[in-house]
Amino acid sequence: MQKILVSACLLGEKVRYDGGDNLLQDERWLGWQREGRLLPLCPECAGGLSTPRAAAERVGDRVITRGGIDVSEEFALGAEWALALAQGEKVAMAILKARSPSCGSGQIYDGSFSKKLVDGDGVTAALLKAHGIKVFTEAQLDEAAAELARLESN
Ligand code: SF4
Repeated sequence: MQKILVSACLLGEKVRYDGGDNLLQDERWLGWQREGRLLPLCPECAGGLSTPRAAAERVGDRVITRGGIDVSEEFALGAEWALALAQGEKVAMAILKARSPSCGSGQIYDGSFSKKLVDGDGVTAALLKAHGIKVFTEAQLDEAAAELARLESN
């Protein structure tokens, strides 16, 4: 069975920076969970950050909190954990939370803490992509399902 690395907050784990979650209520998603396909990880927690924690955004090649603390090392460590899990479990793909400085894919916040978006990837999404792992957001379940069907028909 093809496995999928996923953002833990999308499965309801309260790991978001503010102590909340981003539980995804979607029948297909919940079906994949019931099948045991989904491998949850919060890269920011894996990198050693606590919950709740200060909001952070990518600024160039660094990640900086709203208060100006550089948390790039923690984000990089979390990304390494995610890659190790993805490779160790031979996941088919990742489905990660949109816009996050770790998990975002295609678009992320611009570093000004003003909800403005720019093209780019979060630290974890970028590392996974660099190693050939396809990354989808929770808004791309159709594409993810098509990829899963393609892989399982081979
Ligand atoms: Fe969710 Fe990823 Fe943020 Fe963790 S780092 S709370 S998994 S979006």
